[in-house]
Formats: sequence, structure tokens, C-alpha cells
Amino acid sequence: MTDIKTKLNIFGQNLDEITDLIVSLGHSKFRAKQIFNWIYLKSAKSFLEMSDLPKNLQEELEENYRIGSLALIERQESSDGTKKYLFALEDGSLVESVLMCFEGTERLTACISSQIGCAVKCPFCSTGTLGFKKNLRDDEILEQVQFIQNLEQERISNIVFMGQGEPLNNYDSVVSATQKLRQLIGIGARHITISTSGVIPQIEKLADEKIQLTLALSLHDPDDDDRDLLVPINKKWKIAPLIDSMKRYVNSTNRRVTIEYVLLKDLNDSDEKAKRLGQLVSNLHCNINLIPYNQSCSDTIFLRPDDSRINKFAELVKQHSKGKTVTVRQEKGHDIKAACGQLESSYREAVQSSS
Ligand code: SAH
Ligand code: SF4
Repeated sequence: MTDIKTKLNIFGQNLDEITDLIVSLGHSKFRAKQIFNWIYLKSAKSFLEMSDLPKNLQEELEENYRIGSLALIERQESSDGTKKYLFALEDGSLVESVLMCFEGTERLTACISSQIGCAVKCPFCSTGTLGFKKNLRDDEILEQVQFIQNLEQERISNIVFMGQGEPLNNYDSVVSATQKLRQLIGIGARHITISTSGVIPQIEKLADEKIQLTLALSLHDPDDDDRDLLVPINKKWKIAPLIDSMKRYVNSTNRRVTIEYVLLKDLNDSDEKAKRLGQLVSNLHCNINLIPYNQSCSDTIFLRPDDSRINKFAELVKQHSKGKTVTVRQEKGHDIKAACGQLESSYREAVQSSS
């Protein structure tokens, strides 16, 4: 028998690619569409399930090819319904995704990862403390979505690239995955948000592609000196040109962008910071999303401000940004450590302490 790792993974291939494969194996072209439907509409995991294919084709494909490469290691469910998944890639590296539903809406949002670890190394982020391990391929990004839909038997409506990794540092795979999300899974660009720490050249490149994605910028501080410490990529790409690149994205795509601001007690939550944040983005076509810090990771030194500070901060940002919409993110999955990188790191700690 062929070892699973030597079997070629065809998950993520589009109809043309599957057609080329089937024709090269000497079979009729129309079989490709059947296989395509089995993979993407019926979530087949094995060619042997494809009951409308001739037995010899089922067996030939099963012997040499496989559908997908992720293995589910752990699934956790929070008391608020948020679910968190830990997947292993073929080489054993671990990657995580989260599924969230928001009260009063039909939306089911998957938060997916684009890298293992992250080179940006924001000190408050669990993924940052891992350092950069590797980029995910487009099919590995896409499979997180397909896997969850299949497991939960529910259709995901929205995607946010807010799991592990800096999506714009894995540009080609992320853009390709967004295209395949539309073509193969039926989730259009308008339902996909890419969150970035601010890689200016890639923001400009994305602007030129004119894809209708929502772009979210993790700003987290309105002052360069302080942002250099919180989001270290700021040492290279400063705030003023960063805001200009976001304006270019708006002009090119006609899309409103999002400014994300994680609130860290006594670090970036003062009245002064709120005023400067408001002024900084007042001429940008944006919403502002304040994210109270999720401190459920046990070894963090960062703290979440209390609710009255958060509300005052939100009020001041609104006043100074010419009345922009300011939202405070609904906190999800606290009891299962649903912030970026936390499941992976708690799993790693458990494995280390048991070995
Ligand atoms: N690398 C990208 C996307 C992944 S992180 C980025 O930084 O934008 C998604 C968001 O979660 C970012 O705004 C990030 O700063 C924030 N984040 C990371 N750890 C967090 C935590 N413990 N609590 C709240 N937000 C956190
Ligand atoms: Fe990387 Fe984003 Fe975490 Fe910063 S917040 S370390 S950019 S994943």
C-alpha cells in the first residue's frame, strides 16, 4: 500500500486542475466534475465514497491520491458556543482555528490561521512569542474552513484571518486562498477580513489587486515610539505612511477599512491616546474596533482595562474621529483561550510538562 504521505493531496485543486489530472490518467473529462462535487459539495474524505465513479477509478485514485492533509487533534467548546480546533499538518506542526457565532445574527464566522507562529513578535500575543515557524499553503488555509463546516454540519458565512500569523507576510497563499474560498467553497471576498499588523508594501499590492476584501489594521497605538514596542513591525513601517497606505486601499477598492485597537491597561488606554487615535483616523474611511485584551493566557503580564475605562475610551475616540462608528469587540470563548495562538501554546505547555 502507498504511504499516506506519498499520496498527492488534491484538496484545493479547482475544476481545471482536477480535469487535467483525470485526463492525464486516461479517464473521461466529465469524471472531473463528479470528483469536484464530491470534494467541495459533499465533503468526501475518500475516493471510495464517490459512488457514481467506476470502481476501478475509485481504487486508482484512492491508491495514489488523498483529499486534504489536516488531522484534528483537539476540539473545545466554550460556554458561549465558540468552538476552537487544533489541527496537525502533515509534518506534525500545529495550527488552530476558531468558530464564532454572534448573538442576534445569522453569521457564523471562522477565524483562521495563515502561518505557524509569527515573525512580528508583538509582546502581548501568544503567537508572537512562538516566533516564525512556517507559512501555510493555500490548501491548508482553505481546508481549515472545509474541515470545520464538515465537522459541524453548518455553513460558515464569514472568514477572518485573525488566527495565528501575519497574513500579509504569506501574501501569495493568502490571496490564492481567498480566491479559492469563493470558487470552491462559495464565500465571497466581501465576507472575508484580512487583519494585518501593517506591512505597507503588501497593503499597497493588495490595493492594486482591487479584490473586495475587508482590510483590518491592528494599530494598537497612535504614537510611533509606543507602537514600536507593541507592534515591532512599526520600527520599519511607521504610522503616517501606514495610514496613507490604508487610504490608498480605500480609494482603490471603495471598501471601508477597520482599525483594530487592543486595549491594554495603563499602556495604551489613556484619554490622551483615545484623542490622538480619533484624530489620526478622522480622515480615513473606517470603523474602529476596540478589543479588550484577552488575558486568559496564564503567563501574560498585560492586563485588560476595566469596563468604565473601555467605555470612556470608546466615547473619546468617537468624539475626536468626527463621529466614526466605534465598537467594542464582543469577547468570545474566554474559557477556552480563544485569542490568537492560545490553544496551540497551552497544548504545547501540556505536552512539555507531560514529557
Ligand atoms: N497578525 C495579524 C492577524 C492575527 S492577530 C494582526 O496582528 O492583525 C488578530 C488580532 O488579535 C490582532 O489585532 C492582534 O493584535 C489581536 N490579539 C492578539 N492577541 C490578543 C489577545 N490576547 N487579546 C486580544 N487581542 C489579541
Ligand atoms: Fe503576529 Fe498578529 Fe500576533 Fe502580532 S498580533 S505577533 S502580527 S499574529
